[in-house]
Amino acid sequence: MTIKMQAAVVEQFGKPLVIQEWDIPVPGPGQILVKTEACGVCHTDLHAAHGDWPLKPKLPFIPGHEAIGRVVGIGSGVTIVKEGDRVGVPWLYSACGHCEFCLSAWETVCAEAQFGGYTRNGGFAEYLLADPDYVAHIPAGLTAKDAAPLICAGITTYKGIKVTEARPGQWIAISGIGGLGHLAVQYAKQMGLHVCAVDIDDGKLAHAKNLGADLVINAKTGDPAGVLKKETGGGAHGVLITAPSLPAFKQGVAMTRKRGTCVLVGLPPGEFPVPLFDVVANCITIRGSFVGTRGDMAEALAFAADGKVKADIELQPLSKINKIFGRLEHGDVPSRVVLEFGTN
Ligand code: NAD
Ligand code: ZN
Ligand code: ZN
Repeated sequence: MTIKMQAAVVEQFGKPLVIQEWDIPVPGPGQILVKTEACGVCHTDLHAAHGDWPLKPKLPFIPGHEAIGRVVGIGSGVTIVKEGDRVGVPWLYSACGHCEFCLSAWETVCAEAQFGGYTRNGGFAEYLLADPDYVAHIPAGLTAKDAAPLICAGITTYKGIKVTEARPGQWIAISGIGGLGHLAVQYAKQMGLHVCAVDIDDGKLAHAKNLGADLVINAKTGDPAGVLKKETGGGAHGVLITAPSLPAFKQGVAMTRKRGTCVLVGLPPGEFPVPLFDVVANCITIRGSFVGTRGDMAEALAFAADGKVKADIELQPLSKINKIFGRLEHGDVPSRVVLEFGTN
């Protein structure tokens, strides 16, 4: 094994990432070393590199929380995975395991949670450390590159749809048909929902239609709430907002049916106005949703292993990361870019 690895590093917020040679980390007690095969590029990585959110990562850091690879090193005391296993290192990198949230299978909101590619170095590198208790177990039959987008974009939208509480036969509106949204359309169809896809790009909407969306609306040129209310007799029972854009949030609340639930998943920096009277008088629920638990992860991956959900991916090398970020920022990535690493 060589002792150096290539990594794409954020040295300063808002500046291009720098490709550097770092020492391959050595797994300590309770840790594993994973050799990266593939890592998806999520819009969250862009927010991280820009320092968009109140809780900022410590510089320098290596982004990437859709890393899939083989376990190549095991620290003392690790029994749950073995060398050669294929695992995913997700956003929920670790949690305390004993607080009220961890005990009730809400480890995503544990106060001690660490985040992959954010508070811990992530998968924009040839190797990374992981906590074996929190890695995703990749089902046989799923390739690394196909699995990568599922461990953030997949789990987040699958969980987000669940917490809309929309039931089979009802309507869900999905705002933002990018990396997250194109998977959301597929999960929602598999869960028996009628799907309305909303985006500002006709290409993304055509894609949503191909993936089974029953209705598509361009939020730039059309009136999503008006059209949806007319077509569905009152709006969507569930709304999932993945768009990294504030206007989509106000629109999302307006698309929600009386007694429906609007789930916020996109994370543009800032705040959005809530029309209090409409929300109160229509008994609307507005709910945040943050990735998913280990239980959600196994379920989200099972859909893909059964061939029911498939990410649309574009493969790129690590060296292209700044170009990819530029495209992501301008909405020019059709679905998901996955960084592919060498096979040896
Ligand atoms: P992406 O760039 O791949 O896709 C975003 C999509 O939104 C694009 O198709 C774009 O055209 C569309 N869009 C932009 N403005 C819009 C508008 N006004 N109305 C409708 N659509 C619009 O991004 P992604 O990787 O899918 O991530 C989306 C957001 O979700 C980011 O903010 C990311 O940080 C966040 N995210 C949240 C969680 C969570 O756990 N809550 C997890 C992963 C990502
Ligand atoms: Zn993500
Ligand atoms: Zn905890």
